[in-house]
Amino acid sequence: MTTSAVRVVLRARPSDGGTCITFLPDKKGISIVQQKVIEGRPNGSQPASQSYQFKFDNVLAAASQEEVYEAAASEVVRSALEGFNGTIMCYGQTGAGKTFTMSGGKQSYKQRGIIPRALGQVFAEVKAMPDREAKISVQYLEIYNEALYDLLDITTQPHEISIYESSRGLVTVSGLRTAVVDSEAEALALLFEGETNRVIGEHQLNRESSRSHSIFTIMIELRPVGESGGDVLLSRVALVDLAGSERVSKTKSEGLVLREAGHINKSLSILEQVILGLGDKNREHVPFRSCKLTHVLKNSLGGNCRTVLVANVWSDAAQTDETVSTCRFAQRMMRVTCEVSANVVQDSSVRVRQLERQVADLQQELAM
Ligand code: ADP
Ligand code: MG
Repeated sequence: MTTSAVRVVLRARPSDGGTCITFLPDKKGISIVQQKVIEGRPNGSQPASQSYQFKFDNVLAAASQEEVYEAAASEVVRSALEGFNGTIMCYGQTGAGKTFTMSGGKQSYKQRGIIPRALGQVFAEVKAMPDREAKISVQYLEIYNEALYDLLDITTQPHEISIYESSRGLVTVSGLRTAVVDSEAEALALLFEGETNRVIGEHQLNRESSRSHSIFTIMIELRPVGESGGDVLLSRVALVDLAGSERVSKTKSEGLVLREAGHINKSLSILEQVILGLGDKNREHVPFRSCKLTHVLKNSLGGNCRTVLVANVWSDAAQTDETVSTCRFAQRMMRVTCEVSANVVQDSSVRVRQLERQVADLQQELAM
């Protein structure tokens, strides 16, 4: 068992105009100057400035997608192939580059984001293990206003998808399509299908993607070739594109926007409480079940998981307040450490887990 902190990587997207961030040469620190207007001074409103310093595990300014992958993801994926669960989350305001970081840009192959690169790494590394038989599967879930949507099957309605937790605390999302993929190309085709469905949901069903969380999960099962009853490695990597963290002004918004903002604020704040709770040995209750995001991610944030938070910031001077707020969130995550251990199980336990999943699915069918 090793101890691992939540790793925090800051990525600043290139700024079109003036920038509010100064990058320190050690590539781990930044400083930000925030201009503030202080009301009520004797000679009227006066501008004042406040400066902040933040330290992270890694700061990426004008970095390529490849550099981001190396800094944030390749180690997590390598560990997953050794049986450790992993989670990589992109956090930040809308427009800061979360989806660009996770999924990538469409203009060139070089712009591929973390998800396609992770799939590439998984299949390349599995190929290099001739003594192992691998089963790779994927799921793609979207959470919008606390409802669950299957991005790999848009015919599934939110009420058909539910979170089931076994008595041993194993969380499964039942009703969600789990697609077994035999090749990188097959997995990429599904990713593309899911991304397209996310856009369709946005245009036809008014599910604004910047207001939803999406979780692409790669599930890995590795067993010795030709042996039954031996050790099986089971792991999963959750790749999470979080909803925009910007604060929506209550005075300026109403109806749906306000409801969305309420759900987002709540789930991001519960995510923070859960991560802080996991790092606090004295804490008895970690509020995983308080929102769908943390409940779904329960096994991906818990004791045997490597977690990376990519804090996406938009370095334009006009975005300073949100940049400071994202950095503060990310800084709080840096204090968290948790125990990590590999998921090596006997073949019989794999069977127990499969049966638990089947029970969940049957219960789901009975409930419908
Ligand atoms: P978010 O998902 O955080 O709302 P996006 O990833 O959609 O933000 O990014 C907003 C826009 O900025 C997109 O057009 C995206 O292609 C572009 N963009 C974001 N980050 C970068 C980057 N590092 N380099 C180039 N373009 C970027
Ligand atoms: Mg986005």
